[in-house]
Amino acid sequence: MKIEDLYKLFLKSEGVVTDSRKDLSNKIFFALKGENFNGNKYASQAISGGAKFSVIDEEEFREGENYILVSDVLLTLQRLASYHRSKMRCPILGITGSNGKTTNKELLGHALSKKYKCYFTRGNLNNHIGVPLSLLEITNTDEIAIIEMGANRMGDIAELCEIADPDYGYITNIGIAHLEGFKTRENILIEKGRLFEYVKKKRGAFYVNSSEKEIFKLAEKYEHSVLIGERVEDDYQFNLEHSIPNILFSERIGEKYESPLYGNHNYENLKMACGISQHLKVSISDIKQALSEYKPKNNRSEFIEKEGVFYFMDAYNANPSSMRSSLLSFARFDSDQKVLVLGDMLELGAESDYYHKELLKLISVSSWKDVVLIGEMFGKNAPLYSDYQYFYNIEDANPYINSLNTSGTYFLIKGSRGQALERLEIIQQLK
Ligand code: ATP
Ligand code: MG
Repeated sequence: MKIEDLYKLFLKSEGVVTDSRKDLSNKIFFALKGENFNGNKYASQAISGGAKFSVIDEEEFREGENYILVSDVLLTLQRLASYHRSKMRCPILGITGSNGKTTNKELLGHALSKKYKCYFTRGNLNNHIGVPLSLLEITNTDEIAIIEMGANRMGDIAELCEIADPDYGYITNIGIAHLEGFKTRENILIEKGRLFEYVKKKRGAFYVNSSEKEIFKLAEKYEHSVLIGERVEDDYQFNLEHSIPNILFSERIGEKYESPLYGNHNYENLKMACGISQHLKVSISDIKQALSEYKPKNNRSEFIEKEGVFYFMDAYNANPSSMRSSLLSFARFDSDQKVLVLGDMLELGAESDYYHKELLKLISVSSWKDVVLIGEMFGKNAPLYSDYQYFYNIEDANPYINSLNTSGTYFLIKGSRGQALERLEIIQQLK
């Protein structure tokens, strides 16, 4: 079937779906394949569950009229999204970077929604499947859209740019994330830089945090770069006044903003959301309101207080750069009641040992009431720092953490997604 014809069916449907357990009514089911599943097997179930059509790529699963047989379901989904994009009037802002994509996208989405009908990626749908699905949710009443773009390896951002065709771009930062796929930090810069190259061809605005040196260098000569930072020559200028637990920051014209987020990394995120929204003509009072109201979810930089115990919940994810940033912010926080509960950083490939050792060095220069480290990588380095507690998994760590006298304690809880530190019993009892 030609993509134009599939698009006509899409316009008459209620959208697309890839999970046959979700609401299927009047939708088009795309039978995607993964390492451990074959969506083709669920095509008939999707139709009996209310889907209008099932797009499949294995003929043996075709059982009647409402099946659309294609050579590759994923490719068809991406082509459909790209075709939909080409019909759209609304501009798209693409966000990528090693850390803070979702936080920036959420902050900015809330601020832009004060002035525009703004679509922004739901949750973390930022890969070769998530980006097409997000694009297909944009409707012709949307006035602007923010699309989060993630990358695990070379070629990912170039591919997502081809599909999403962004008009504006923003790279949050270049850090150490997904090293297994990228091999080197230089590769991370090259790949994220594809977003800049794409936007440059379209002569669209490119938003630059001028304290991110490599990104600044990449884009400083581009006439449509919008510089946001602390320097007088920046187009939008901010200062961090106080960083923990709540962030207070001000801008050149004297406006002050306060946010319930914590940590210097979130100051960067807030300042960028603020600068970009101003450039896109959202009023200062609306931005202030949106940013001060925004509360993170899903254990991303949440600050929780319960019965005199304080939790900086940053357990959504961790890599060397986000660990460093969170740890340094927490170290600066003035209290002698600070406890670290950190989980391994995953997906670091051959560099894993090195980065865990570096982190241990960083931990050791500050003083803590207690340090609890969870995971095999930390465990391997256990003999290096005898004052710290090491456990191979959460189950082993629970009794020790539960035995701590927690009154007046400030916890920083951070680890990779694979660790899911929110499963700790002290965190479970917060719910
Ligand atoms: P993912 O790659 O999983 O989509 P992401 O880039 O969307 O991640 P967020 O989910 O916004 O990132 O944040 C994940 C963690 O990264 C946060 O909990 C925080 O510790 C850290 N982080 C957020 N913003 C920054 C930043 N600007 N610089 C460094 N670390 C950050
Ligand atoms: Mg994300």
